[in-house]
Amino acid sequence: MSKPKIYIIDVTNRDGVQTSRICLSKLEKTMINLYLNEIGVFQSEFGFPFTHHETNYLNANLELAKKGALSPMRLEGWIRATKDDVKTTFKMVSGIKHLNLSISTSDQMITHKFKGKLDHASIIKEMTEAVKDAKKLGAESIGVNAEDASRTRMEYLVEFALAAKQAGAQRVRYCDTLGFDTPFTIYERIKTVAEAAQIPIEIHCHNDLGLVVANSIAGAKAACDSGCDAYINTCVNGMGERAGNADLVSVILAIKYGSGMQNYSLDERINLKAAWKICKYASYAFGVPIPINQPGVGSNAFAHESGIHADGALKDRRNYELYDYEELGRGEPEIIETGRKITAGEYSGIKGFRNVYDKLEVAFSDDQQATEILELVRYANVHNQKPLVDDELKFIAKHPDIARKIFTMEP
Ligand SMILES: [Zn+2]
Repeated sequence: MSKPKIYIIDVTNRDGVQTSRICLSKLEKTMINLYLNEIGVFQSEFGFPFTHHETNYLNANLELAKKGALSPMRLEGWIRATKDDVKTTFKMVSGIKHLNLSISTSDQMITHKFKGKLDHASIIKEMTEAVKDAKKLGAESIGVNAEDASRTRMEYLVEFALAAKQAGAQRVRYCDTLGFDTPFTIYERIKTVAEAAQIPIEIHCHNDLGLVVANSIAGAKAACDSGCDAYINTCVNGMGERAGNADLVSVILAIKYGSGMQNYSLDERINLKAAWKICKYASYAFGVPIPINQPGVGSNAFAHESGIHADGALKDRRNYELYDYEELGRGEPEIIETGRKITAGEYSGIKGFRNVYDKLEVAFSDDQQATEILELVRYANVHNQKPLVDDELKFIAKHPDIARKIFTMEP
């Protein structure tokens, strides 16, 4: 048996965007997918296939993947574990290959959410039928989410995981939906499920008690110790419902540099070089600043002032730094234009637009092509409602047909 591995499934484009008071445009979600692919995450939970305003975005991103511009990362949709959601999914997003099907498993939710509509047995029946239908309709990989797993009775959770495996699911997602677990409990609970069911475990944690990264690592360790692969759910900058999900960069750093983690293998595709870029972009797109003390990417993460610390860091960085800022793609000075600046936006004309793209060293074959891209840039600005960043401008010029689909919405 090969040694179990830890993979990252990022849920910024699902848990992150369903969070109260923050959102991303479909272009911003696309950019996040491109950056996630660059940083090497295994899979992006890229949206809601049964939600109508997502359809064009989801199909366009699948097309991008098919073209090779968004691969090898998997694109996976989140739906409820019902036959109806499965059917709607394949009607609206026919090319989708990866899904996570979600259903609640705790007594609390079964009693107070389903209110008699579903009991323990019918939840397993509903879930297994949904898994089988999804496979029939073309799903290549399926994760089954046990919502509120941390408050679910152990025997039932094991029964649920075994049923998911038998129905053909590839993973079971242990959801600490309320952020209730501690590293001690999540380790024991995931160990029990993984040992009994022998199925890869996805770990989805929340930060209501400030334990989210610790819980995610403890959960992954438990799965690996039981001989099963682990898939940690993350969000860029720790976005996500309420107090958030596990921060992408912190989770990667904890696996790479955490004490006692050196014998656990992280997906070798992970490359933190893109960390700085994706975190800055997500902060801009969400409109949520990165805290000064954020691990890895906060402005104080490599800053030293006090006499003893500054002296020590200058003598040898390992005196006061666990990892290098260069590894996270930091260290390049940021250039800010302080003179004249032409921007491209919804009311731009061709001359200013040409100036912007000249600076990006993007050339157009003729005037007609330039006019076509200008029109798309205007729409992109209407769509995002904030100045476009260089990577967005480059994306539009490179993939105009995909961009057009992303901006198109018909209620
Ligand atoms: Zn969640």
